[in-house]
Amino acid sequence: MRKSFPTSGAEWKALDAEMTAMSGADIDWRGGRAPLYVFHGSDSAHEVGFQAFMKYFNENALGGRRAFFGLKRMEDEVVEMGLDLFQAPGQAVGNMTTGGSESIFMAVKACRDWARTQPRLKAPYNIIAPFTAHAAFNKAGDVMDIEVKRLATGENRRADVEAMAAAMDESTIMLAGSAPCFPHGVIDPIAELSELALARDIWLHVDACVGGYVAPFFQRIGRDIPAFDMALPGVRSLSADLHKFGFCPKPASTVFYRQEEDRERGLFHFDQWPNGQFSTATLSGTRAGGAVAAAWAVMNHLGEAGYMEIARQLAAMADAYVAGIKAVDGLHLWAEPDLTIINFGAHDFDIFKVAEGMDARGWLPGLTQNPKGMHAMLSMYHAAGREDYLADLAASVLEAKGQDGASDLKAVY
Ligand SMILES: *Cc1c(COP(=O)(O)O)cnc(C)c1O
Repeated sequence: MRKSFPTSGAEWKALDAEMTAMSGADIDWRGGRAPLYVFHGSDSAHEVGFQAFMKYFNENALGGRRAFFGLKRMEDEVVEMGLDLFQAPGQAVGNMTTGGSESIFMAVKACRDWARTQPRLKAPYNIIAPFTAHAAFNKAGDVMDIEVKRLATGENRRADVEAMAAAMDESTIMLAGSAPCFPHGVIDPIAELSELALARDIWLHVDACVGGYVAPFFQRIGRDIPAFDMALPGVRSLSADLHKFGFCPKPASTVFYRQEEDRERGLFHFDQWPNGQFSTATLSGTRAGGAVAAAWAVMNHLGEAGYMEIARQLAAMADAYVAGIKAVDGLHLWAEPDLTIINFGAHDFDIFKVAEGMDARGWLPGLTQNPKGMHAMLSMYHAAGREDYLADLAASVLEAKGQDGASDLKAVY
């Protein structure tokens, strides 16, 4: 039955109670039972993000230039901190967006508009990407009539650069690499892609959406993280989400361009309507001021030292999960992860049967296809529940081993 428009208003207290009841059946995500969608770095980062968001709750980042000068300054500083973190050259620029999909969309649009200035590149255009690249490239391609050619990955499920080079043609405008990819948490060989992009004078976009804001700190605590950022000369644009492992509130992401004219290509300008000149660097018009303020506050609250401390905790936790999973007879990782995103499967039984067992035990299973796997993106929400998770996993594997037939589950994001 359709809910009718309320005739009279309700007080917050009643609404609050109703809303609490509405989420009563939700997955216990605070207790680490959701392996995607939500992130936690530290309690203090959460609190600072929350307070800063509320402080700028009603401001609109669309009006940063004409009305909300504080927000504009914060947005500029967020971008500058990102450029510094990703070792961008002096002339590089960027802007905030509302998420990874939008950051990727803007980079693809800038690339498409650049391609139109290159007579050697023939429409309809295409993008060459590994199979593991995020769906957002296809979303952008769908809107802009650009085909995304996805190629099988190579060693340790990283992009196969040779195959990507061989697949390029006169319509290829962009190479895409992930740092890391969402399905397996491994960083593609960006240094090799950078050389390929330079040699062929083609745009390389690095999708560091999920792990970009934590990978540099894994490097600083001594983990072996392959080069992926704008220190590599062929990286022409890079996307990195603050609302993932930057531990900032949603919706907040960043997109960076090596050259000012590339950012210009991403912009939208229009003045043939009554309200005159309208310019945005995003698909969105109105943008939450709170998200800009919160990103600024969380980055300044944590600083290098804070992110390094979280990186240490994350790394130790992820190692313990990996060791625990490898210790379950019959399970193996599909790739050795660079950060804290893991994907594991089985050869001798149906891993989706294991997922069913985990589901029955109150865990939301992350699922992947080709190969079938169980996926988890581990943040500090997942620290406390690790032993419970591993015990339930071992029990679910024993059950799965005793069952015939395949599970009806399908991989779903
Ligand atoms: C999450 C993610 C995106 C898309 O970001 P949204 O904020 O969900 O729009 C893009 N690439 C990768 C690798 C991601 O993990």
